[in-house]
Amino acid sequence: MRMLVRNLSVVHYEQLKAGADSERSLSFFINFLESNGCLVSQKPSHTDTERNLAEEVEATEDPVQDAKENEEDTEEEMDMEHPLQLSTSAIKISTKKVMEEAGLHKKHSADSQLLQGFRSYLEKTYSKSGIKHEVDNVSRWLYYVNPNEPSTSCIHDIERSMAFFHEIGASAASRATARNYMSGVKKFISYVTSEDQMLEEDPSLRGSISKFLKNITEVQKSICRGAGKEKYVGRTCTNPRECQEVLTLANSFFAEVIDRANSRNELQERDMTSMLFYLEALLILQHLQRPSVIQHMTVQQWLERTRYQSRSRDSVRAAVIKVKAATHHIVVLNEVEEMWFDTYFRFVRPAFIKRSSSGDKGYFFVSSKGTKIQNPTTDVHRFQERFNACLATGKEALHIFEKIIVSDSTPEDQELIKIYLSSDFNESNISEYMRAAMRVSELQRTWEQPSNSRYGEVPGTLEEKSSGKEVAYKTVENAFKVDLDSKGPTLKECRKISEMHGKYCYDRWRRQQTKCRLDAVIAHYKKEKPTASQVLNYLKLQGWSKHVPSVEEVLLHWEAREQPRREGDDSTIQSLVKSQKWQGLAIVDDPDKGQKVVTTKPFKKGDYICDYHGPLISAKEGEQRMRSVEQEEMGYLYFFMDRGNKRCCIDAQTVPCPCHRELGTTYGRKINHSRKKPNLKPTVKYFENDTRPHILFTAKKDIDVGTELFIIFDYGVTRKSFSGEGADLPWIDE
Ligand SMILES: [Zn+2]
Repeated sequence: MRMLVRNLSVVHYEQLKAGADSERSLSFFINFLESNGCLVSQKPSHTDTERNLAEEVEATEDPVQDAKENEEDTEEEMDMEHPLQLSTSAIKISTKKVMEEAGLHKKHSADSQLLQGFRSYLEKTYSKSGIKHEVDNVSRWLYYVNPNEPSTSCIHDIERSMAFFHEIGASAASRATARNYMSGVKKFISYVTSEDQMLEEDPSLRGSISKFLKNITEVQKSICRGAGKEKYVGRTCTNPRECQEVLTLANSFFAEVIDRANSRNELQERDMTSMLFYLEALLILQHLQRPSVIQHMTVQQWLERTRYQSRSRDSVRAAVIKVKAATHHIVVLNEVEEMWFDTYFRFVRPAFIKRSSSGDKGYFFVSSKGTKIQNPTTDVHRFQERFNACLATGKEALHIFEKIIVSDSTPEDQELIKIYLSSDFNESNISEYMRAAMRVSELQRTWEQPSNSRYGEVPGTLEEKSSGKEVAYKTVENAFKVDLDSKGPTLKECRKISEMHGKYCYDRWRRQQTKCRLDAVIAHYKKEKPTASQVLNYLKLQGWSKHVPSVEEVLLHWEAREQPRREGDDSTIQSLVKSQKWQGLAIVDDPDKGQKVVTTKPFKKGDYICDYHGPLISAKEGEQRMRSVEQEEMGYLYFFMDRGNKRCCIDAQTVPCPCHRELGTTYGRKINHSRKKPNLKPTVKYFENDTRPHILFTAKKDIDVGTELFIIFDYGVTRKSFSGEGADLPWIDE
């Protein structure tokens, strides 16, 4: 039997049965094998030993609804509560709703070959009941791991698969649900192992299967352990570790989501809300910030954050955000936290804002509906429930911090902490306040229970986990720019930068370059879809030897990417010119440049960004005005040719502009000039029923969130035209 365990990851039930002398020893063996990460295939469902671990009353998801099997869509069966359940706990939320909320409910069509094969395998091997249900569960797992198609390649993606089970375990769905999913997936795996053809097609599958099963066993154990935890819910927290428990528990999930966002993978609803809730919990429970700080922090304040480097020997770096709620507050983030906030700002916030009907109000933290956060305390509470963590509030966390940490600190620390907790700061003591803030979160993170700690993990370690990785990659990326033709680092070079994350950085760099090249190829065929051989030739021409996107990828992404240009949008653009309520832009103070315009949402190539706003005057009048102003202000006069080839000028010199007295300034005139890296280009635009030309800035390429906008303002040309040389240079792109 030990041999079996060592050599096999899949054991047939019949084989075991033949070797066992009694039912009892058979079930013992099965239990033993399964807890060692083996899979007992073709096991009749009544011997399902995991079932012993179930909370019987919760096992409502067991497939019982055979009568509905043949209906087109039996989704609703998920909603059917067990009668017993209904009578005992009417408030229990339906599993379907919970799964939907958690973003785990989407599945592939059952028509695919893979799922149909699995279905008939189940029909042959197991009793007839609940097959559709089981196929659906497996289909949801496949969808979660790879939304494109149901494929056995999901077995290779162990990290993502385990995240799926963890999420079910962490969601409000019952643990029995998680168990049912795992049991279905295990059956799927035994189906795959019974199909020689699949194993032949993908020789690495066997290795992954055995890894997969080991992992799933671990997850199963941890979820069962988690089940015992429920009795802690509602307990009062007694120490800083418990107050921040949710950060510890959500830690690896959060790290995974951050990682996924930064590698430009699509985030599910649950990933996004978790990222938001995590940051709120971090500010409230660890940084001891007031909820109002979360509500009032703005994008502007975030973009105008300053960097601070302590002069002490540890030379810690921090980002400082000044927030004005009822009083002034500052939020001090270490480098890793700043990266987390940035990830939220770039990938989550824009997705939420899109759903808001009232547009972007400029708050940094927004609800999943894109609106102002109503109640951060409730968000943190929901998050704690999601992870079965201690339900500490900010007030309690603060109280416990004062009671346990402050009283134990050195007099020096106590002085510092006092500064932080007084919370109203002024410019004169800002550096001291920053030191205090950093000391507080450090003390919070590193607090150890004096003895017999119930928790093995220090919350601080999560930073190393998620972000050692991020920091290492940033370093690699700085040293080796990801470019179409740049040469990437070798694995050895990556390992030199980070021994631990070298491989990760190496792989990620290669993926990034492939993606970059993919984008370039797609951009090359912007008008018409290329044929496979055209793409192949084009790829050959580039002379890329490694990290080359496949022809299939190019064709697939071409479809997805090329949406029709939005010609019908003219009336929207026209009304934006009128209202000047351009979305996704912020004018930010920059200590070096004065002011700049930064994006707060992503833009696609060709999108209209804003207009260069001001009254239209004749070129002659423009030149006259130019004579009367200081040299450096000349840039505010914008000369161009209208459609009748007449030179004219937009005067953005005068602020506020006569038609928008209520606005201090307009975006267009605040965009800085750059000859080297312009990401906008100007176009002359006419609207229906309006003879006046407008200058509109459009995106020259896709633009990320948090990017400064630049345009080539050809001051040189305007000056020359002023002095009469080259007066007719039409320097605007068509
Ligand atoms: Zn105006």
